[in-house]
Amino acid sequence: MNIIIFGPPGAGKGTQSNFLKEDLKMTQISTGDLLRNELKKESELSKQIRNIIESGKLVSDKIIYDLIEDKISNKNIENMMIFDGFPRNIEQAKNLEIMLKKHNQHLSKVLNLKVDYSVLIKRISGRVSCPVCKNTFNEYFDPPPQKCRENKLIKRSDDNEGTVKKRLEIYDKETLPLLEYYKNQNKVLNIDAMKQIDEVRKEIRGVLKG
Ligand SMILES: [Zn+2]
Repeated sequence: MNIIIFGPPGAGKGTQSNFLKEDLKMTQISTGDLLRNELKKESELSKQIRNIIESGKLVSDKIIYDLIEDKISNKNIENMMIFDGFPRNIEQAKNLEIMLKKHNQHLSKVLNLKVDYSVLIKRISGRVSCPVCKNTFNEYFDPPPQKCRENKLIKRSDDNEGTVKKRLEIYDKETLPLLEYYKNQNKVLNIDAMKQIDEVRKEIRGVLKG
């Protein structure tokens, strides 16, 4: 089974992918991780990627496809992949199909993590971490205890409401049309991702068994 974990930023795709790794021994394929891992190597490709990033440009789809196909062709993880953060648009989705087919595989399901945007905004813009105990909290859902409040809590500069709204707008425009595309292929499984993390985990396990 190969699946896509789909949903807006802050829906919990990374967290639930990690549970799928534990529960079903699947392998998470995230473009961010693929790029970071490649950068650690001393390869020609890694040099190329470094140059692109340093010049402030976006890494081309061609490079992303090469990194992804490298994983798809790996027999050890055949039919056990979770795609996280890829595809981001219909063109990428079509290329994913081509790559899977080339290696005698296909996409089984798309898990659509559904969360209200008002909640996403709070989930992301409320994130803080404590510099002393290193724990992360959320000002709205999981407020830090008083002893942590006495330290200067750290907030990532891009975790503010304006940035989150902008990311959601881009998601709506570029990525959300994919959902329709996969609905037409009867591949979408809707998940209520407003629930507690463990409840969401159970729901996902349930629908994947069914
Ligand atoms: Zn603390």
